Amino acid sequence: MSIRIGILGYGNLGRGVECAIKQNPDMELAAVFTRRNPEDVKILTESAAVCALAEAENWKDKIDVMILCGGSATDLPEQTPVYAKLFNVVDSFDTHARIPEHFANVDAAAKEGGKVGLISVGWDPGMFSLNRMYANAILPQGNDYTFWGKGVSQGHSDAIRRVEGVKDAKQYTVPVEEALKAVRDGENPELTTRQKHTRECYVVLEEGADAKKVEEEIKNMPNYFADYDTTVHFISEEELKKEHSGIPHGGFVLRSGKTGWNEENAHLIEYSLKLDSNPEFTSSVIVAYARAAYRLAKEGQTGCKTVFDVAPAYLSIKSGEELRAHML
Ligand code: NDP
Repeated sequence: MSIRIGILGYGNLGRGVECAIKQNPDMELAAVFTRRNPEDVKILTESAAVCALAEAENWKDKIDVMILCGGSATDLPEQTPVYAKLFNVVDSFDTHARIPEHFANVDAAAKEGGKVGLISVGWDPGMFSLNRMYANAILPQGNDYTFWGKGVSQGHSDAIRRVEGVKDAKQYTVPVEEALKAVRDGENPELTTRQKHTRECYVVLEEGADAKKVEEEIKNMPNYFADYDTTVHFISEEELKKEHSGIPHGGFVLRSGKTGWNEENAHLIEYSLKLDSNPEFTSSVIVAYARAAYRLAKEGQTGCKTVFDVAPAYLSIKSGEELRAHML
């Protein structure tokens, strides 16, 4: 029997999860749950139901894993603990500083319900965290580097849209090539925020807005732009739509380390991602981990887990025998 998946929240990630399920023959989408009027939410899978969120608890016995696709800012801190009491759940909570607190809340709820709650699954946190951890365990003497981009930062794009005189905007985070090269060359540089990334902004102005003033306000915005070299391009609404409507992202996790009695030999580990669609890739990671959540629950495990707690073979559709024969 296939693993029956529920999707709770149908935004970019919700749609991405639906597409990823289509590529995994051991899974099927049972239902999508939304806070909006279900009639207004059009999904792609004909066989699946679209239901109001209030109906979710009636699906307790018809869903094996509920994938929570709400936003990290306000949705997931509330929703994950609530639904971890009823279902095995997976979320992509990405507010790094609040992960310990989220873990504790989900752990208590999942243990109460006898379920598995797998949190902060995606690429960062997620695959990047895992690669940072592997590299640190293997090369305890060394330095870590993470570069993001080139990609769209939703948070920074939103911040620009809040500036007076701005109609719409997209912001790209771009790694500085020279910094990346210095790391790859084994120079072990100490890099400031400004030396690692630049920020490129594409902005559509409201009619009559003062471009100079808008540019100054963006470049000097504390936390978001003041610590970076920022470029502001003013473009038309049509150009923004045509050239900047995608949600690409990616980045690099590197660790340079030394081994040998006198640490005479240098090593570099690099993991890199180039993603046409950040949400579709994130969703693909989540769906693989949904398989793991299902298997962990079948074994009788309960409580909150992160990517660190899941053995790699649990992610694969292949059996242990198949993995040993073809992938080792
Ligand atoms: P969206 O804004 O597209 O969707 C979030 C929620 O908004 C949906 O679940 C949906 O819930 C609600 N929503 C309300 N109105 C609409 C509408 N008109 N159209 C679509 N959705 C609507 O966010 P994303 O899916 O892009 O991202 C969700 C979270 O994923 C982010 O907050 C981020 O934290 C996390 N993320 C994590 C990553 C990682 O690597 N760990 C990477 C990328 C993202 P409802 O159906 O109930 O209305």
